[in-house]
Amino acid sequence: MALRLSRSIVGKAEADAVSRVLLEDGYLGMGNEVRLFEEELAAYLGVLPTQVIAVNTGTAALHLALEALAALRDAAGGEVLVPSLTFLASFQAVTAAGLRPVACDVLRETGTLDINDAEKRLTVKTFAVMPVDYASNPWHLDEVHDFARRKGIRVVEDAAHAFGCVHGGRKIGSFGDMVCFSFDGIKNITSGEGGLVVAFDAQAARLVSDARLLSVENDAEKRFAGIRSWDPDVKRQGWRYHMSNIMAAIGRVQLARLDTEFAPARRALAALYKERLSGLDGIVFLQTDPDDNIVPHILPARITDGRKDPVKQALARVGIPTGVHYKPNHLLSFFGGGAVRLPAAEQLHAELVSLPLHPGLSRQDVESVCKAIRETLATVSVT
Ligand SMILES: *Cc1c(COP(=O)(O)O)cnc(C)c1O
Repeated sequence: MALRLSRSIVGKAEADAVSRVLLEDGYLGMGNEVRLFEEELAAYLGVLPTQVIAVNTGTAALHLALEALAALRDAAGGEVLVPSLTFLASFQAVTAAGLRPVACDVLRETGTLDINDAEKRLTVKTFAVMPVDYASNPWHLDEVHDFARRKGIRVVEDAAHAFGCVHGGRKIGSFGDMVCFSFDGIKNITSGEGGLVVAFDAQAARLVSDARLLSVENDAEKRFAGIRSWDPDVKRQGWRYHMSNIMAAIGRVQLARLDTEFAPARRALAALYKERLSGLDGIVFLQTDPDDNIVPHILPARITDGRKDPVKQALARVGIPTGVHYKPNHLLSFFGGGAVRLPAAEQLHAELVSLPLHPGLSRQDVESVCKAIRETLATVSVT
């Protein structure tokens, strides 16, 4: 089978869980299965069930988290500091919430938010910062929370890459302000599509929970008790962003497989890549904190000396797909089209190549990718 850059790892157990919802329960919308998934997620993270809110995508999670904080602050039209090197969902979520994303630079060594650069872009309109745990790296979170406290702004963490990661002995999603995960098909766990908001502020949690169901108050709790809201009133904008029982059924199986299967496999494969390629001329891995225990979602490496494109092409010719995570958002027309210059984000964009990484790869697959990279770097000349 052809080597894949990333893929969903689902099988009989997930299929059986979906069958159970389809054939036995028959209620496909948001009901008991979602309640159970939320309870299991809360137990996994060590937080209260009322602090976790399951939604239909990671983008929706970010949108609702931002919107809730903006409502509590009366910060309509406010600014959010976001590292430019992220999936464009982070930026689109900010504009979806009626806010303005302010693109910030990242650190060359890690690809995560450069807090000094963010501080320079702070204005009276800034009400939140959105750190992205790029390539599952949470090392900067203490500094980000410090910064936010000093400046009196809120933190919406884009932890789409970081489900299952541990920082400072604590799971990502067990601390912070608002933490958002994605369960799309290729993330550390999947619910088909899906997302999660973890909200430590009870008022924000309430707003997010209602907003996912058109802002009908307490509708989630009613659905979990099998009651429908036939006589609703609403006081604010809401969305149809809830998770379905079908998605939750997949997610529950995946959650149970994370620590036993997916996390050790991802860690071992990433470690093997680094063992085989570190120290080689022309390739540099991003730095992580050795005290963190991360579950790598992607494995970007810097191909230096202007050799990224020829190396990518040479790998493609021998059947090895590579990815680009990401084109910096400040270069996209909708987000300014390059009106600001962010040197580190632009340099990383010129260098980063994501290598195949998912639990379906064998050690032998990784060995052959590494061999191809060594051969390619030896033949592609420095420009
Ligand atoms: C996947 C991802 C998202 C969005 O999640 P979806 O579930 O695909 O909507 C947001 N930010 C980052 C960094 C992501 O990788």
